[in-house]
Amino acid sequence: MKYSTLLFDADEVLFDFTKAEATAFDATFRQYQLNPQDFRDDYTEINHRLWKQFSAGEVSGEQLRVQRFDQLFKRHRLKLDASRAAATYINILSQCGFLLPHALDAVAWCSTRFSIGLITNGLADVQRARLAHSGLASYFPKVIISEEVGYPKPHPRIFEIACEALGEKDRSRILMIGDNYETDIVGATEFGIDTCWVNPKGGTDKKAIFTYHIDGINGLKSVVS
Ligand SMILES: [Mg+2]
Repeated sequence: MKYSTLLFDADEVLFDFTKAEATAFDATFRQYQLNPQDFRDDYTEINHRLWKQFSAGEVSGEQLRVQRFDQLFKRHRLKLDASRAAATYINILSQCGFLLPHALDAVAWCSTRFSIGLITNGLADVQRARLAHSGLASYFPKVIISEEVGYPKPHPRIFEIACEALGEKDRSRILMIGDNYETDIVGATEFGIDTCWVNPKGGTDKKAIFTYHIDGINGLKSVVS
């Protein structure tokens, strides 16, 4: 086999983050008897902007958690406690370890053939709790989380840390599996390892650079066999 080591991104590769986020978001707003749909688009925009700032090191994880609700409540002129909303949201999100179809099978299969690791940009306590709830934790003794190591994907240092943790020095023996083109695929390519882009929407930009392309994790076996 060409590869000895597989690095998996977590969300939207193995974990259903869309469902997890919607579950936590809806529950947070229902506690105030508010309709979550009235806030969804604004939250998405604010959250996206704060994540960019978090990735650039401009805000801390703690600020990100609270400010996204604080900014949202101010925009809607709601006098609500953003810290409380953030705590509710994180508490529920942390319990949402929903997996995508075929994720468990794919990981179990890979775990007997490769050294495997999880490499994720996320809030450490949330990602660790979701992993614990998912049934995947025992397959991943090595979990590399941006908030813990201090570098988010696509920074080369986080890929280097992951490879060191998994004990593989030969970059030609490592494959990164991810859904986010900029962070997972471009980041891993620039670090110098092969990539498997999980892109369920299909259709790739002609300029996109990747080693393999699959539309779901069930396509991974044929790529690495
Ligand atoms: Mg992802």
